[in-house]
Amino acid sequence: MRVAVIGAGAAGLCAVRHLIAKPKTFQVVGFEQGDRVGGTWIYTDKKGQDEYGLPIHSSMYKNLRTNLPKEVMAFPDFPFDKNLPSFVRHEDVLKYLEDYAEHFDLYPFIKFRTHVVQLLPKKCESKLSWEITYNTLSDVNKSQTDQFDAVIVCNGHYSVPIIPNIAGLDSFKGEIIHSHLYRDAETMRNKRVVCLGAGASGQDIAIEISSTAKMVFLSHNKSPLQSVLPTNIQQCPGIDRVEGKTVVLTSGEILDVDIILLCTGYHYSFPFLTEQCHLSVDKEERITPLYKHLIHTEFPSLCFIGLCKTICPFPQFNVQVQFFLASLDGSFTLPSKEEMDKDTEKDLELRLSQGLPLRHAHTMATRQWEYNNQLAKMANLEPIPPGVQVLYDMVHEKRVKNLPGYKKINYRMTGPESFETIEA
Ligand code: FAD
Repeated sequence: MRVAVIGAGAAGLCAVRHLIAKPKTFQVVGFEQGDRVGGTWIYTDKKGQDEYGLPIHSSMYKNLRTNLPKEVMAFPDFPFDKNLPSFVRHEDVLKYLEDYAEHFDLYPFIKFRTHVVQLLPKKCESKLSWEITYNTLSDVNKSQTDQFDAVIVCNGHYSVPIIPNIAGLDSFKGEIIHSHLYRDAETMRNKRVVCLGAGASGQDIAIEISSTAKMVFLSHNKSPLQSVLPTNIQQCPGIDRVEGKTVVLTSGEILDVDIILLCTGYHYSFPFLTEQCHLSVDKEERITPLYKHLIHTEFPSLCFIGLCKTICPFPQFNVQVQFFLASLDGSFTLPSKEEMDKDTEKDLELRLSQGLPLRHAHTMATRQWEYNNQLAKMANLEPIPPGVQVLYDMVHEKRVKNLPGYKKINYRMTGPESFETIEA
C-alpha cells in the first residue's frame, strides 16, 4: 500500500515513523515544503513569505518556552534529553524532532522543498486512489503527480490567523499584530498593549510582554483568570469596537493603546484539497465528515493527524497515526460510514449539551484522555502511559494558579504515576 504523508512537522514525522516500521505493508513518501523537519518549531525572524513565495509557516516567537513539560510532550517511544529542564526552549523541541527523525531513519522517506498543491481522489472500477500534484520549489516549472492508496494530512493548523470582525479595527491608528507575527517582547517596550484572547498563546504572550510593555490589557470574554499576574497586566472584557487610537470594551470602558495584539487563533486550512475530496470546514471551524476527528468517513483512506485542540500533542499524534494504520492494514475494521457519522454527531451533541460552543467541536482538554484510550482500545494499541495525564493535570493546576511562575519547576518521575517537583 503506497501512503503519502503531507508535512514533516511532529505529526508527519510520527506518521512516517510508524509507516516504515511495517515495510511489508506500507511504502511511504513524505512531502515537506520546507527544507527541514520540525514544522512550527522552526523559529524564524522572517514574516510574510519565504524565498519561494510561500507564507511563513511557523508561529514561534524568539523566547518561547514550552507550556507543557518535556516529560509529557515527548512521543512515548522517544524521550527528550534528560539533561534539559522540564520546560524547554523552542530550539530544544526542534532538536528533539530532528533527533527523532534521525533515530528512526526517516530522512530517506521525505522529499523536502516539495509543496503539495493538489489532492484528488480517483475512482477506477471499485478502487479508490489518490493523485497528488506537487511542485519542486527549486524548479518552479516542475510540477509532478504521483498516485497513492492512502494519504495522511499533517499540514499543521497554526499558520493562517483568524482576524476577528471588530468595528473600526481597520482604521486603528496604532499597530495591529496577530500572534502569528509576534516574535520578540522588545517590540513592545514601553507600549500600552491590548492583548485580545486569553487562550494558551494569549496568556503566554501577555506574560512575556509584561516584562517590556508599559501596560498589558488582557482582553477576553472568559471568566477571569485565577492566576497571580504581574502588576502591569490587567484583565478586561472583550473589545466592542475600535475608534481612532482607542479601544472600546464591551463594558463601555475606553482604553488608549499603542498596539492591538490579536491572540485570536488560527483557521484550519487545506488549500490543496480539491472539491472532490468532500471535506468541509465550516465558519465555526468544524471539519466534516471526520470519524474521531481523524478519518474521512466517505474516504476512509484519507486521514488528518493533529486537528484536535487543547491536547498533549505528540502522544496523541502517536495514537492517532497507529489507529489509522491499524484500520488500513486490517488489524481492526472501522464501523460503517453511517455508524461513524452517527458517532461524530453524538460527540458534537455531547459537547453542545455541556455548553461548549460549536467552534470547540475539536477541542479536547479533559476529554483527551478518554479519547486517546478509546482509540488505543479499538485498535489494540499500547495506551499512553498514565503518568502523562497525572503530570499534565499537575502542571495545569499550577499554571492556573501561577502563570508567571509555573515554568520555574522541574519534574522528575518517581514511579509510573508519580513525580517529584524540583525548584528550577
Ligand atoms: P506543524 O508543526 O505545523 O507541521 C506542519 C508541516 O507541514 C510544516 O513543516 C509545513 O511546512 C508542512 N506543510 C504544510 N502545508 C504543506 C504542503 N502543502 N506541502 C508540503 N508541506 C506542507 N505543543 C506542545 O506540545 N507543547 C508546547 O509547548 C507547544 N507550544 C506551542 C506554541 C506555539 C506558538 C504554537 C504555534 C504551537 C505550540 N504547540 C505546542 C503545538 C504544536 O503545534 C504541536 O506540538 C505540533 O508541533 C504540531 O505539529 P504538526 O506536525 O501538526 O504541524
